[in-house]
Amino acid sequence: MAKQVITKPGFTYDDLVLHPDRIRKGLDEKGIDLRSPITSYRTKQKVELAPDELPKDTLILNNPLTSSPMQSVTGPEMAIEVARHGGLGVIFCSQPLRDEAEMVEAVKRHKAGFVVPDVFSPESSIDDVIERARETGYSTFPVTHKGKTNGRLIGLITQNDFSERIHRGLKVHERMKPLSELQTASYEELGYDLRQANDVLEESHHGSLAVVDRHGRLRYMVFKKDLRAHREHPEGLVDDDKRYMVGAAVNTHDYRKRVPALVKAGADILFIDASQGYSDYQADALRYIKKLFPKVPVVGGNIVTEDGFDFLAENGADAVKVGMGPGSICTTRQKFKMGRAQATAVFAIDNRRQTYMKKNGIYVPIIADGGIVTNDNIAIALALGADAIMAGRFFARFHESPTKIAELKEERGDQTYVALVKPYWGEGSARAKAWRQKRYGQSEEEEGIEGYAPYIGHVSDALPLTLRHIRLTLQKAGYRNLRDFHVKADLEMERESTKREGRPHDIIPSGMWADYKTS
Ligand code: IMP
Repeated sequence: MAKQVITKPGFTYDDLVLHPDRIRKGLDEKGIDLRSPITSYRTKQKVELAPDELPKDTLILNNPLTSSPMQSVTGPEMAIEVARHGGLGVIFCSQPLRDEAEMVEAVKRHKAGFVVPDVFSPESSIDDVIERARETGYSTFPVTHKGKTNGRLIGLITQNDFSERIHRGLKVHERMKPLSELQTASYEELGYDLRQANDVLEESHHGSLAVVDRHGRLRYMVFKKDLRAHREHPEGLVDDDKRYMVGAAVNTHDYRKRVPALVKAGADILFIDASQGYSDYQADALRYIKKLFPKVPVVGGNIVTEDGFDFLAENGADAVKVGMGPGSICTTRQKFKMGRAQATAVFAIDNRRQTYMKKNGIYVPIIADGGIVTNDNIAIALALGADAIMAGRFFARFHESPTKIAELKEERGDQTYVALVKPYWGEGSARAKAWRQKRYGQSEEEEGIEGYAPYIGHVSDALPLTLRHIRLTLQKAGYRNLRDFHVKADLEMERESTKREGRPHDIIPSGMWADYKTS
């Protein structure tokens, strides 16, 4: 006989509706604080703290959105964009560890400030520059003696210095701008004073500033576009050195090698990636990381049960990820009949987290992972107790996800309809697992599918709208920040008939028929 059978069905985000609370005077949308902790903290009063009260060593997101560690979701470009807006991107671990470490390094290099860029030797070919620009998305590369990262600076090659059509086959020194034409500054004078570097750049007519030491060796570059980005996005999630923060996923197989490499590469926080994280393997990985790198925060998961939460928290997880089965590409629940309705899981884990906090005086953040379709799903997840959400499909749709835009064509009569899409596949799909199979000859059960998500343009166009939607929801409900949302929100289940009632109904929507104008 089973230990228990819960006969009350679980619920999803779409099953719930929020009650409004009292709106206090002066609560406008801009004053809504979306900062949220993503690492555990001690709380003497044994209550959840507001953003301003959080201890200094807590890692606090400036908005509660994180992008999934998936091949088709988070590479460096996505991580940079998500961090630029205040959230966190998590680089996927389903790749050789050196590649993952390089992705982490690329994000850390790309801070709004001092950049140690890829360099070329004067003897490199323009074709190499074209290829690197395509791979990395960067358009400006310093040229150094023998192409060494901190070698003697000789010139600069940018995409304005050559044409793909005419200059292929030439050497870099034939097209680069020589040192005499560059804006440079002395490393000994400037050090790492970003403000002063900015001032030099602002005064100049150049797009970049090369900072060189007294031996003429390149130390770093400062780019005008980064300064602009920094001004436009003061909410960017940055570390103490003003570099964008980035998370990195690790698995429970090769973490002994992977974790040190990722920490060295600059990962700010690690995420243990497992679809069933309530496991002894995960406890081993957590204990290993905590012992060797006590200062590096680690998120455990995924779990959906209260006992799973306690297990990870007790084994040192700084936050837990909740979700088994809600992902848009996920077949786990279908295949194994295992998991839990996502909204029920988040609410239940939040409850257990309260108990844990009351007992131990430690607040452990929850990240609701998977199943986010709409902006209001995010708001409901946060109301239920999530400190942050993690999403794959949501981010896969953007220009900055690592995949190429594809066209889906459909012939209807003599018309051809074209939809722009981005490929999106589960980490448990055959496609994602191929790298491991190739490398280790391992084949595992598939738990995910492969498909497409509609392309919706750039992160910078759409993410601010999502954040505005969340702010408006909090404002309309009468809450200033996510702590209030957690502590005060009331939600109610809807049935199909209440959902129908809540949608426009029983009118003929304009646009359905040709408008009949009365004079
Ligand atoms: P989505 O935001 O609904 O697309 O869900 C993304 C989440 O699904 C990820 O953050 C993972 O937790 C989970 N996930 C990723 N790949 C797979 C898979 O292949 N099978 C099951 N779950 C997956």
